[in-house]
Amino acid sequence: MEVRNHTQLRDANMGLIFRTLHEEGPLSRTSLVERTGLAPSTVSVITAELQARKFIRERGRDAETRIGRPQVLLEVNPTGGYFLSADLGSDGLAVAVIDLSLEPVLSKVYRTDSTLQGEELYRQLIRALNDLQDTCTFQKWPVLGIGVASPGLITPTGRVLQADNLGWIDFDLKARLESDISEMVVVENDSNAAASGEFRHGSYRDVSVQNMMYVSVDTGIGCGLILDGELFSGTHGLAGEFGHIVVMPDGPRCACGGRGCLEAVAAGPALLRDYWNISGSGSVREVADLTRQANRGDENAIGVLVEGARRIGTAIGNQINVLNVDTVVLGGSVVLGCDAFFFDEVERAARRVTLPRFGETVTFRRSSLGTNAGLVGSASLCLLQLFRVSA
Ligand SMILES: [Zn+2]
Repeated sequence: MEVRNHTQLRDANMGLIFRTLHEEGPLSRTSLVERTGLAPSTVSVITAELQARKFIRERGRDAETRIGRPQVLLEVNPTGGYFLSADLGSDGLAVAVIDLSLEPVLSKVYRTDSTLQGEELYRQLIRALNDLQDTCTFQKWPVLGIGVASPGLITPTGRVLQADNLGWIDFDLKARLESDISEMVVVENDSNAAASGEFRHGSYRDVSVQNMMYVSVDTGIGCGLILDGELFSGTHGLAGEFGHIVVMPDGPRCACGGRGCLEAVAAGPALLRDYWNISGSGSVREVADLTRQANRGDENAIGVLVEGARRIGTAIGNQINVLNVDTVVLGGSVVLGCDAFFFDEVERAARRVTLPRFGETVTFRRSSLGTNAGLVGSASLCLLQLFRVSA
């Protein structure tokens, strides 16, 4: 089947205007001229076209107009288009319909166990996306694209090189989805997608933030980097394997084959292992049980989590010294499941090793999108793809 052609939206000026409204709107046409450097006539023609296609809408008048009649303000029209998002997490498949302003309008989680892998998992993903598509058709919501956040190593062409927990090795996820669902598809590593979501749509979104490190502590430890305002993916699209920084060369074996990686000593399974060794308790089986125990005051659980937080914080502090980021966002089930003590300990440990000038300017934040970060993030990457601005 043929993939729908959205190339008409990739006009550089149209992309620039839409992106500016998305990031800074509502804005008047005069402000758009100032922000984009485009001619007033170009801004007029393009905003008229975007309005005709319902991607943007009018929203009152600008009270701050200095001369003459207050100007009409323009903003992104949330109902002008929708994205289907999927996030393949450790404990299930989350899917959502996200509107053009990047707000989720409906979401669903399919609990899956670790035996659902490979082709079977792919078929489940297709079924879930088809269900969402049917809902969108019923609601008359135009679908603009599909974003999928997957753990593992993902190439810029959307091929999953390796996602051990999903049973996908060299799996051409993007091409298969495009052929099976006939929509534009973006596939990105889950931590990269979450970083993009926090950067573009986090509640503390601030245009002055240009360099951000997103770290997720879950069954693995992932990292997404926004550098100079763009997602940084490295030469082969594989950057950010922060969980495999070696912090104990003779430490426990890691899933990657190495020893003593940060993930092998501080991610969910390692924290559970340490807790079992100390307490011998069999009632704590999952990471969620461990964080709950800690929040209830279980000293052993708190001790294990604090030790993990220190290791993660030290590694983050070292990265701050390398990258000079202005913001660190912490997410994932361990961070979100614990009371403030875990987050605070990561920040304390990071600040202990950052150079003074680096530490003074960096802000630590808890993920504002929470479990939706990957879903919103993959929709945001779809949006960028759709209105891609030529550099
Ligand atoms: Zn490793």
